[in-house]
Amino acid sequence: MGEIYAIANQKGGVGKTTTAVNLAACVAEAGYPTLLADLDPQCNATLALGLPKDLDRTVYSCLGGELDLTEAARETGVPNLWLVPSTAELAGASVELPRLAGSEGRLRESLGAARERFLFTLLDCPPSLGPLTVNALVAADRVIVPVQTEYFALEGLAGLLDTLTLIQRELNPGLRVAGMILTMHDGRTRLAQDVEREVREHFPELVFDTVVPRNVRVGEAPSFGLPVTSHDPHCAGSVAYLQLAREVAARA
Ligand code: ADP
Ligand code: MG
Repeated sequence: MGEIYAIANQKGGVGKTTTAVNLAACVAEAGYPTLLADLDPQCNATLALGLPKDLDRTVYSCLGGELDLTEAARETGVPNLWLVPSTAELAGASVELPRLAGSEGRLRESLGAARERFLFTLLDCPPSLGPLTVNALVAADRVIVPVQTEYFALEGLAGLLDTLTLIQRELNPGLRVAGMILTMHDGRTRLAQDVEREVREHFPELVFDTVVPRNVRVGEAPSFGLPVTSHDPHCAGSVAYLQLAREVAARA
């Protein structure tokens, strides 16, 4: 049976999409059928895999109950990696969802045969704790939290963990934190070193050993519509995401 992972942090620009795309690509390249669902109306994950943001059969259709995730999944340029794209229309879902009965469970209901067809399903969340992220957390078995090693990194993490506890209690008792992944790390700076130490001290059990370095190849890969592992398989970013994939699998 496949596992569903939400990649979530209400802060923007911390590496959620980068982690979702590249982790998904690493797992897929290892030969495991993998699904990435883009839950952000900004469509960054969709664009990062070289697909346009005006497709039909999107996450929006799934939340609306027209299709399930496996019916909306389409092939990407990466073998074994399927994508359910996003669309700008999804922005409306934040307003529409709360008006629907059982709105928090719409995505869970639209998983369809995702667990049977895909070993890993990753849900790339938008930068908020709004209805789209709540839907992802209700559908997921595990959460991966990207944390940028910058000042304010810890700010907001306590709030995120409170939200996870609330969702566990009220809506999804099976939800677990798979781990926190430190991203865009610049090991030369004192600040990044201090933040890494502080986050590890606060959450000793949760932080993955892998640290994703700030890496030019990681940043430019989306402009080629490719995961970094296809763009430059040997760069430091690719090595880090491959190592993260192994750690995630080991904790599964
Ligand atoms: P989020 O999805 O949390 O908003 P993104 O994954 O889109 O964050 O990352 C924000 C920006 O930082 C993007 O432009 C992305 O390409 C860049 N970025 C992310 N991780 C790295 C990295 N390890 N090295 C360099 N740039 C990165
Ligand atoms: Mg994003």
